[in-house]
Amino acid sequence: MTVILPGATLGVMGGGQLGRMFVHAAQRLGYFTAVLDPDPASPAGWVSHYHIQTPYLDEQGLAQLMQRSAAITTEFENVPAPALVTLGAHRPVAPGAAAVAIAQDRGREKAHFTRCGVPCAPYALVETAQHLAAVGEQLLPGVLKTARLGYDGKGQQRVKNRQELQAAWDELGRVPCVLEKLLPLAAECSVLVARGRDGQMVHLPAQLNRHRGGILAVSEIYPESLPAAQSRHAIAAAKAIAEGLDYVGVLCIEFFVLADGSLVVNEMAPRPHNSGHYSVDACDISQFELQVRALAGLPLVMPRQHSPAIMLNLLGDLWFAQGDAERAPAWDRVLALPGAHLHLYGKLSARRGRKMGHLTITGPSVDTVRATALKAAELLGMGPF
Ligand code: ADP
Ligand code: MG
Repeated sequence: MTVILPGATLGVMGGGQLGRMFVHAAQRLGYFTAVLDPDPASPAGWVSHYHIQTPYLDEQGLAQLMQRSAAITTEFENVPAPALVTLGAHRPVAPGAAAVAIAQDRGREKAHFTRCGVPCAPYALVETAQHLAAVGEQLLPGVLKTARLGYDGKGQQRVKNRQELQAAWDELGRVPCVLEKLLPLAAECSVLVARGRDGQMVHLPAQLNRHRGGILAVSEIYPESLPAAQSRHAIAAAKAIAEGLDYVGVLCIEFFVLADGSLVVNEMAPRPHNSGHYSVDACDISQFELQVRALAGLPLVMPRQHSPAIMLNLLGDLWFAQGDAERAPAWDRVLALPGAHLHLYGKLSARRGRKMGHLTITGPSVDTVRATALKAAELLGMGPF
């Protein structure tokens, strides 16, 4: 493939916040952008040069996207794989349909991790009543997760015993699931790698992640946030997983950290990831620019983190801190904090659990960043972390 130079148009399947930040990065480099998303008010649609408002499998919509775009990426992993196959027949598409299809299915994803020699939590596929009856005691207590379409803790239930397992499977609609053993987590971390068509790989520094209610709440990224050996291990495992997929583009791998410091892979996202948002303000190349570079066949240069960083996710709940009426947080007070970088995604209404934006705090030292982030969390009514 020849390099697609600035001035060309890059296409994106999906118009959410990840698409929006991809569009920002592409436009900064001088590309034009085209977004396909049925929602007329999508975060990426607002800021893209072209917005094609059709369903993801609409033939005319896909044809328009191809006509506009020199290469196409995806910003959400549940983009229908057949749409990527159609696009891939005519244009460079990264990540490719095969890798996205594996990431869309927790069962195939875990099989891939195992193939790459990266351990995941003990698990069993639950696709039939027979599978459910055959589940071994050693997987309980566990977490039953739908194989497809789960995100932000949705589509999963914790189960203590067989009765709860049966009830959970019924409640999830008896769709194909994966039962995972519930592991005692000491922490969670993730790492982003980018791989080019030539197989070259670079990575961002690994991040420590804190979840609340199954949704990412806080990421901390500085040398002390994760032991060096853990970071190295996470990066090596993520590279092995990307290599095994013959992956092109940005890939995020999430890990559980156990009490003894060992890592267990949780899941992967075939795209930039919420936990990598810090890279926009704290690194000289962001995860979104890496995605642009990988898609366009431009050189992948190892990013350098120039400031310690803490990212706070801004969920819709913060808009309801004062009761039932929707009211935006006091941005003027938050923006008075030195090193506060506010990113709002342009969503027209807030809902509890909806990702409305994020706030990255950078500063000259870890202590300053922590103190400022705690202050910001207090101003936002987020509670300490
Ligand atoms: P999602 O696709 O919704 O992000 P995850 O599988 O990442 O789903 O689960 C969300 C969160 O739930 C994880 O980040 C972790 O905090 C917790 N969790 C999930 N599986 C397990 C497990 N097997 N053991 C312990 N905690 C888990
Ligand atoms: Mg997750």
